[in-house]
Amino acid sequence: MQTIRGFRDILPEHISLWQKVEKEVFHLFEDFGFKEIRIPILEKTQLFARSIGEVTDIVEKEMYTFADRKGDKLTLRPEATASIVRSYIQHKMYAIDPVRKFFMIGPMFRRERPQKGRYRQFYQIDAEIFGVESAYVDSELIFLLNELFKRLGLTGLSAHINSLGCPECRPSFQTALLNFLESKKDRLCENCLRRMDKNPLRILDCKVNDCREALADAPATLDHLCKDCSDHFDTVKKSLKEQGLDFIVDKSLVRGLDYYTRTAWEIQTTTLGAQSAIAGGGRYDSLVKELGGPQTPAIGFAVGFDRLVEVMEQIESPEKKTLDLFIIALGDKAMEKGYHWSCKLNLAGIRTEIDFRGKSLKALMKRANKLGAQYVLIAGEKELAEDSLVLRNMNTKDQVSLPIETLIPDLIKLYKNKPEEILRD
Ligand code: AMP
Repeated sequence: MQTIRGFRDILPEHISLWQKVEKEVFHLFEDFGFKEIRIPILEKTQLFARSIGEVTDIVEKEMYTFADRKGDKLTLRPEATASIVRSYIQHKMYAIDPVRKFFMIGPMFRRERPQKGRYRQFYQIDAEIFGVESAYVDSELIFLLNELFKRLGLTGLSAHINSLGCPECRPSFQTALLNFLESKKDRLCENCLRRMDKNPLRILDCKVNDCREALADAPATLDHLCKDCSDHFDTVKKSLKEQGLDFIVDKSLVRGLDYYTRTAWEIQTTTLGAQSAIAGGGRYDSLVKELGGPQTPAIGFAVGFDRLVEVMEQIESPEKKTLDLFIIALGDKAMEKGYHWSCKLNLAGIRTEIDFRGKSLKALMKRANKLGAQYVLIAGEKELAEDSLVLRNMNTKDQVSLPIETLIPDLIKLYKNKPEEILRD
């Protein structure tokens, strides 16, 4: 049996970087006032179709959708924003306090063509702010992303930002875009031609080379912004500059989801080949209302966790967890006692292991080395009879005898950083 294509196991030997990121996210995001939210993995298909947009790659061809036994159409979440908006509306959070800051970490599912950096189950770190229209929260989210990457030691990233306008400036842009597309019709792929009537903005997101070339001087939303959108974008740029954050204004950045308004951004890395986007985000000031809530401005981002770890793996190797103590118990009696010592030490926070397979001293020393044990406690029949065990420092090879009577407190003392008290002779 094998995993499904595009799905993968994250094995224990690779988990330390994932855990390092998770710790940093919890720490940093909570300091910035974000509260963790957990949302279901499965939702009604309609939620994603209505929010992400019927005529998008995700909804048209990438969602894992199926009918359950009653025939209800369900979908494995391809992203988190739609569900968080659903939750915000369902629990009437706006009525108690419309201003909310959420974050979450979890798996998403998209049936894309798998390759390095692109999986069918992948993980995202997601943050959303509801109820604030001010451009300062746009900057705050970009600042937060930058700080997360900085703390994780990432370099060589660039922030690409754009403004996608609002329902007020869209019509003028859409007219300009349609006129332009009409003139390039013979060079566009079938998919783009189909989208011309239904969702022309998505054509700007087409990955087909010929289309990209034909669209090189397509009109940009930035040239059609209304005054409010233009002022908003100016404030974002100004405050990013004031905070010393570098960014590139990228007129062609449109993002693959329909709900974005105003500021949209992507953080790109040069180190991952084709899959260069490590995080993306944007404003979605109309979505809460479109999904049945009151008019509520909102904004968020998602970091591609798998890609983030792949970048980190290029600069650091996963931490090898070592063992504090390995108990070599030779014989049944030693194993019986060793088992109890091991449990007590584990409870005291000392990473201890014991091997019950009845192997020889030589084989067990080998295993202690393999596990990276710092100390080995040798309990053979002779040691038990003499009421005194041998503790060996695996680095220095120093050995001391420990009386069984005070074994546990002595070892606890040792691991509370006072080895000199134990190894004095
Ligand atoms: P999106 O929700 O499409 O804006 O994606 C946000 C981030 O999630 C991207 O910048 C990627 O880093 C990551 N991402 C999206 N799709 C995948 C995928 N299929 N596999 C791995 N990471 C992904």
